[in-house]
Amino acid sequence: MSDRVLVTGASGFIAKHIVLELVRLGVPVRGTVRSAAKAQEVRAVLRRHDADPALFDALELDLSRDEGWEEAARDCRYVLHTASPFPARQPSGKFDLVPPARDGTLRALSAARRAGCERVVVTSSVAAIFYGHPNDPSRVFGEGDVSRVESPAIMPYAVSKTVAEQAAWGVAREYGLSLSTINPALVLGPALDGVLGTSATLIDWMARRRIPVLPDVTFGIADVRDVAHAHIVAMRHPDANGRRFIVSGGERTLRSVAATAREANPKAFGIAPLPLPSWLVHAGARVSPQLAMLAAEVDRVKRLDTTPLRDVLGIAPRSPEVAIRDLVESIRQYKWK
Ligand code: NDP
Repeated sequence: MSDRVLVTGASGFIAKHIVLELVRLGVPVRGTVRSAAKAQEVRAVLRRHDADPALFDALELDLSRDEGWEEAARDCRYVLHTASPFPARQPSGKFDLVPPARDGTLRALSAARRAGCERVVVTSSVAAIFYGHPNDPSRVFGEGDVSRVESPAIMPYAVSKTVAEQAAWGVAREYGLSLSTINPALVLGPALDGVLGTSATLIDWMARRRIPVLPDVTFGIADVRDVAHAHIVAMRHPDANGRRFIVSGGERTLRSVAATAREANPKAFGIAPLPLPSWLVHAGARVSPQLAMLAAEVDRVKRLDTTPLRDVLGIAPRSPEVAIRDLVESIRQYKWK
């Protein structure tokens, strides 16, 4: 079998970093994309960052359709399944994102199994770990924790990530497939081109004043380079089978993210957005389901255990400040000019 790696959703923010790192290591990569234009986008990234585009070939397929999966996984030693819907705005239905997320994951795993791939690494999320649990400031969330889909305080994206990841573990158990998951916090860090993913778009929105007020929320932040590297180490590491790796460089408030972004580029970020008082969020929660979800998040910190990332994969994650600054600088370079 060749050393080829299948990367699904190769045109995504995180996946482009994975493809770039693999190609720089001389590993041939097959990427799945939704259009020929997206494949060109990935090749352009490889050229721009001095990596050989000849090591990358692309196939078009969709998470919601059966066609193309077997061909995609053929002759691949590993599958890195990153593709999943990650919209900047949540849909109205709690389960709306589940079909592409879960069924796409099952298609990827089934193709990997039939092709005899050695390991599958699924890009999950901390959203599949810490939603819907009671507020307990002393609690540290770790690889044994699973979000509670039945909770009213869980957003549709987190539902989709939880259901998809649990479906993957079900298949791995049933067929003895070697599986690891990477569970990143909010992923920031440099973009490789001007096509920003959802998480990078949040920072772009701050600069464009499309986020006018900042609620008192705190979240973990991961650097995209650490997230990409974690996939590549987990794919080959003998002790990574059956493990879930949280990637986070630490927790920060939304206000401190905005302050770091402003320090990195005072011109783009201008005056700080006003704080949104938590009492207002709680009052609004009575009439708005969106604010009800936000109300479950304000004034609490969900701390994350990154011991498996450090001890098994040997990765010391970059700090949130490095991730924020490098993202701001890359947006300036590719988008704001
Ligand atoms: P992007 O939106 O940049 O990437 C998502 C990828 O999934 C894109 O390549 C997209 O294709 C593809 N995709 C979405 N829907 C479909 C579909 N129906 N069929 C085929 N492909 C599809 O986001 P990220 O790179 O940030 O996300 C990658 C993964 O990381 C996702 O699984 C996400 O849930 C997870 N994650 C992300 C975090 C973050 O903060 N960024 C945090 C934790 C987890 P296209 O390019 O054509 O749109």
